[in-house]
Amino acid sequence: MQPRDLSDHVAYEAGRGIEEVARELGRDPTEFVKLASNENPHGPSPAAAVAIRETASSVSSYPKSAHADLVRAIADRFGVDDQQIWLANGGDGAIDYLHRATLEPGDAVLTPTPGFAYYGMSARFHHGDDRAYSLERADDFEQTAAGVLESFDGERIVWVTSPHNPTGTTMALAEIERLAEETPAETLVVVDEAYGEFADRDSAVALIEGRAGYDARDDVAVLRTFSKAYGLAGLRLGYAIVPEEWAEAYTRVNTPFAASELACRAGLAAIDDDEHVERTVETARNSRDAMCDRLDAHVWPSEGNFVLVDVGNATAVSEALRERGVIVRNCSSFGLPDCLRITCGTEEETELAIETTNDVLADRAAGTGTRLGVTDE
Ligand SMILES: *Cc1c(COP(=O)(O)O)cnc(C)c1O
Repeated sequence: MQPRDLSDHVAYEAGRGIEEVARELGRDPTEFVKLASNENPHGPSPAAAVAIRETASSVSSYPKSAHADLVRAIADRFGVDDQQIWLANGGDGAIDYLHRATLEPGDAVLTPTPGFAYYGMSARFHHGDDRAYSLERADDFEQTAAGVLESFDGERIVWVTSPHNPTGTTMALAEIERLAEETPAETLVVVDEAYGEFADRDSAVALIEGRAGYDARDDVAVLRTFSKAYGLAGLRLGYAIVPEEWAEAYTRVNTPFAASELACRAGLAAIDDDEHVERTVETARNSRDAMCDRLDAHVWPSEGNFVLVDVGNATAVSEALRERGVIVRNCSSFGLPDCLRITCGTEEETELAIETTNDVLADRAAGTGTRLGVTDE
């Protein structure tokens, strides 16, 4: 007895944690800072942490009213109906739900490259195909409708990541509208706004609801998460915002209680903690400005809580950084073997990342592997 043919499936490569890296190098975890997974350097909202502690004694019940209350709070925030909020186990869970709701066997999705690996993985889990459109480095990974349409071939879903991971670019709402307009009515354009809070842009919910001068559409959906700006990555809480016409499909595709009682209670507390989100966004802006200004390498402008940096050899530089206590994301797995993605940290962490990266780059330029003058090989 064997599982089905999984040869098309690959494991998700997550950024490695401090404990893992410290153990491997035989060092103390306190010697490291991790700027590899776009986590919140201020931790969770303190109000969410309180809610988690207070909920501990009631986790024997299934999450029913907490789920309904959180859906209501999110719907209020975006000015949509409750049924339009598809709460899920992380943004990744919401990606699964959208595929479950749309893909027939053999249908395809169109995803950006470089880009977020889970879109294609999830499509394949749901017996769909994954095809790619390119964001061109020569155009600084600019995101336009025309750039996507060049590769469009009748896919059921087009994934747009705005702000984009790992490049930090966004797609203007007018371009997203054009993309939805110029693809068939049966094609859903999903705008993944996992980093939406960090960008100076309106949410694509404006296209669903027909606001800000746009006509209301039933072929655009939005994805959001509590993992990034809200600092709740470990709890797994995210959601899709879908057109009214789609609302009823949720009850037919969701995994019962996938958003846990703890997650829903924490989300309810976090969504009202504007101060924590504002502080987080301000920290990210300062950090990415500092990295743009002061890293001795090309840094692409970013609207997320990370920057993409051209360091020449991502594997060598990320390993040298790790030796010196700074864990960043090697973008080889994104098809960018010369780039690192560095998460925006606190002021102190950002300073450390800038100084250490510049030291490593200077040593490499001088042909020396470490500050002690040991050669590269
Ligand atoms: C982080 C991220 C998500 C969702 O992450 P979850 O932790 O599952 O909520 C979705 N899309 C992109 C592009 C991301 O970077």
